[in-house]
Amino acid sequence: MLEIRHLSVSYGQHRALADVVLTANRGEIVVILGANGAGKSTLLKAVAGLVAAAPDASIRIRDRELAGEEPHRIVEAGIALVPEGRGIFGDLTVRENLQLGAYAARARHDEARNHARVLALFPRLAERMSQTARTMSGGEQQMLAIGRALMSSPEFLLLDEPSLGLSPLVCRELFAALKEIGASGIGVLLVEQNAKQSLAIAQRGYVIETGRITLAGKSEMLRADPAVRRAYLGAAAAASSTDTPSTD
Ligand code: ATP
Repeated sequence: MLEIRHLSVSYGQHRALADVVLTANRGEIVVILGANGAGKSTLLKAVAGLVAAAPDASIRIRDRELAGEEPHRIVEAGIALVPEGRGIFGDLTVRENLQLGAYAARARHDEARNHARVLALFPRLAERMSQTARTMSGGEQQMLAIGRALMSSPEFLLLDEPSLGLSPLVCRELFAALKEIGASGIGVLLVEQNAKQSLAIAQRGYVIETGRITLAGKSEMLRADPAVRRAYLGAAAAASSTDTPSTD
């Protein structure tokens, strides 16, 4: 289990996260919804060790305390972040990007198996192993970013807005792949603007507003919540409380 307690983060005088409590289990998809600037990226970055948490924060995986650890140690503990903007190496090929993902000591002896899994999940990458990453489409680059993170043998995968800028068709493929990743036993912490599709694949979710968790619960509960429907599911969904969201 990934267990986050008392997580506060400040940028100078600005408090971006205040006393966040959140849990995720392996094999579970947990979505984090919130408006622009609510603190969602800061939450993922703090878990990945990329921004400093206030001293009394606790971020535990399998009872190991990770708050204050270096980012590479957090990867070694089993947490991989796919940042907003993907963070792949544009000048390197697909193959080289995937190889770099397996750099963590925890992943080295599983490199061949992880490689095969990534290509099974994203067959399009298999056709493009020698292609330079930056010449690929946005959707392919996102698949590569997720594939690279999976090469580190994570127990928990953190994703920051993976569907941003992708076409509806590519989004559907992406969410189907995320569902498969969850079903494979990896815990997925998903920050998304696409509330409808992310709630359709997630078991649970949290709503974050100006740095605080304001609502938490099962996806069905969040989908039915009037404030969530108004703010994140759009006017059409809010207008009809009998809508049955897609669960594909
Ligand atoms: P978005 O969806 O727009 O990315 P978010 O929910 O991910 O928003 P964060 O990026 O976590 O929000 O930002 C939370 C708050 O912290 C915002 O008010 C933002 O302006 C501020 N912030 C984020 N990064 C920094 C930084 N490096 N320095 C100063 N303030 C920052």
